[in-house]
Amino acid sequence: MIDTHAHLYSEQFSADCDDVIRKALESGVEYFVIPATDSETYEPMMKLCGAYPKICFPAIGLHPTSVGDNYADELKFVEKQLETNQFTAVGEIGIDCYWSLDNIVRQREAFEIQLKLAEHYHLPVIIHARESFREIFNILDRVHTDGLKGVFHSFTGTKEDYLKIKEYKTFKTGIGGVVTFKNSNLSQVVEMIPLTDIVLETDAPYLTPHPYRGKRNESAYIPIIARKIAEIKKLSIDEVDRITSENAKTLFNLPEPYSIR
Ligand SMILES: [Zn+2]
Repeated sequence: MIDTHAHLYSEQFSADCDDVIRKALESGVEYFVIPATDSETYEPMMKLCGAYPKICFPAIGLHPTSVGDNYADELKFVEKQLETNQFTAVGEIGIDCYWSLDNIVRQREAFEIQLKLAEHYHLPVIIHARESFREIFNILDRVHTDGLKGVFHSFTGTKEDYLKIKEYKTFKTGIGGVVTFKNSNLSQVVEMIPLTDIVLETDAPYLTPHPYRGKRNESAYIPIIARKIAEIKKLSIDEVDRITSENAKTLFNLPEPYSIR
């Protein structure tokens, strides 16, 4: 299995990151995609990915909730890092209308600039969408090309949102712990999303799946998400593993062989 979204460099893992990775590997996770949120996360992220170069793959980007007064400098930083060619994706990027609406104009600008960077460097994008599908679709409708691919990370949209995403033909949905929440409608939406359009993710340390909700999330919980998707789709967990891993590998251009069992 592949955890396509884990902030394992976060302070919440500083005491036991090696253990967290070991536990995840033991649970069947093979690769980790590690997204940045801003220039402050760069160093801890690169340190982690440097320690695990064969299994941890960094992404670089400016997260919508990190778009502040210095956003032009932050975008320059992203651009400069992309020139070094060591990133597996541009992310996470997107629009967040839940935490911050007052800077929406800058968020739109930062998102669009980073979409273009991703296209230029032939990298997939990791999109953060929170109460912002309309905003994001408006921009994608204008700038999307077949060369722009990526994932709607921590997808919690409606069936209509998924159908709209499907129209672009180049995006996957990242399904995480929310699918296990009892008060979420996501399982009904996941039921209609073909497995070929799904990648697994934790968003660790956030969005911990049931029954660990409230505690720190970690990549070792990926099998809980895979099992829930298998249950919804009446498939085996192996099938969910096989297809979602293949999707992630192709999207993020992860190396072969990815499976040592
Ligand atoms: Zn994230």
